[in-house]
Amino acid sequence: MQIKQNYSLEPHNTFHLPVKTRWFMEYDSEDDLKKILRDEYFQECLSTHIGAGSNLLFLNDYNGIVLHSRIRGMEVVAEDEASVVLRVGAGEVWDEVVAYAVERGWHGIENLSLIPGEAGAAAVQNIGAYGVELKDVLVSVEAYNQLTFEKKIFPVEDCGYGYRESRFKDPHQDPQIITQVNLRLSKRPAFTLDYGQLGERVGAEPTLRAVRDAVIAIRREKLPDPAVLGNAGSFFKNPMVDAGDALRLRERYPEMPVYPAADGKVKIPAAWLIEQCGFKGKRHGDVGVYDKQALVLVNYGGATGDEIALVAESIRTAVNEHFGIELMPEVKYIV
Ligand SMILES: Cc1cc2nc3c(=O)[nH]c(=O)nc-3n(C[C@H](O)[C@H](O)[C@H](O)COP(=O)(O)OP(=O)(O)OC[C@H]3O[C@@H](n4cnc5c(N)ncnc54)[C@H](O)[C@@H]3O)c2cc1C
Repeated sequence: MQIKQNYSLEPHNTFHLPVKTRWFMEYDSEDDLKKILRDEYFQECLSTHIGAGSNLLFLNDYNGIVLHSRIRGMEVVAEDEASVVLRVGAGEVWDEVVAYAVERGWHGIENLSLIPGEAGAAAVQNIGAYGVELKDVLVSVEAYNQLTFEKKIFPVEDCGYGYRESRFKDPHQDPQIITQVNLRLSKRPAFTLDYGQLGERVGAEPTLRAVRDAVIAIRREKLPDPAVLGNAGSFFKNPMVDAGDALRLRERYPEMPVYPAADGKVKIPAAWLIEQCGFKGKRHGDVGVYDKQALVLVNYGGATGDEIALVAESIRTAVNEHFGIELMPEVKYIV
């Protein structure tokens, strides 16, 4: 276990904000985690858990304890003719999990290649890309209740998954610290290629390697590399509106893209709405709206969390005034 005081989180958030935390605690095992959770000082302090900080916006220095998992390991815990169940430590780098599965010929997560972050957070976020969401392959999530210290295994149906939603994000549920995720991966070919240009790029005879390479190539063309330009991916969620509202909007804006979503709702790409309001490629001080993808806010260097939040707020206001649609941040604000 490593404990650091007045520690800079700059390398721990992909916006590269130079904020500090009063305490940073990094644990390597479940035993260490249990010790932290039972500690009276920990219980009295404000605390938050981070992964790679690729979906976070720190608004200030953090006056509490930031926890980070270094629980690693990937292990096949069940296997039959058709599939394996892979148990993955929450601190594993997500894209290394994808590479590991692809190398072994296991299908299911190749479309989720190159999504930044760690395996534990992937289950919090229900990460998704190119027509696949983590919930599609997830068997269960292992986690410690931060209040009762009990470990529980949550089967996927108890995780409350929706579009970038889960019980692990729900403030009405007890806070849980994820230690492992269990994924069912198929040994038999099963590709999802009907999303965007993916099928076209992969061609008529897909292989796991080809799909992973195509996803990586498309992502590199469209999204800024956080190592080069600070960002947290999609800043807002794509809004879901009622079918009737979508129809009315479509009468005024016939070119507006719409996609069917769950529960009779219609998904409208937030990037399109933001672009229509004139923000794409614009820069306000050190904060910018990425020129190839209007959903991504970038830190050109030197921006503060507050400045990024201010630009986000002006985008939300403009989209609301123009379309009557409220954008919700996908990025989590930490105060
Ligand atoms: C360039 C770029 C592209 C992106 N593309 C996509 C994409 O295509 N699809 C997509 O879904 N997302 C995307 N994202 C967003 C981000 O990568 C995901 O949300 C990712 O899962 C966040 O992982 P993280 O480890 O960085 O988590 P963090 O941002 O550090 O934390 C995210 C949440 O998880 C919680 N958390 C972290 N670890 C644990 C744990 N062990 N136990 C309990 N809670 C925990 C945190 O408290 C927080 O609520 C992108 C981000 C970037 C920068």
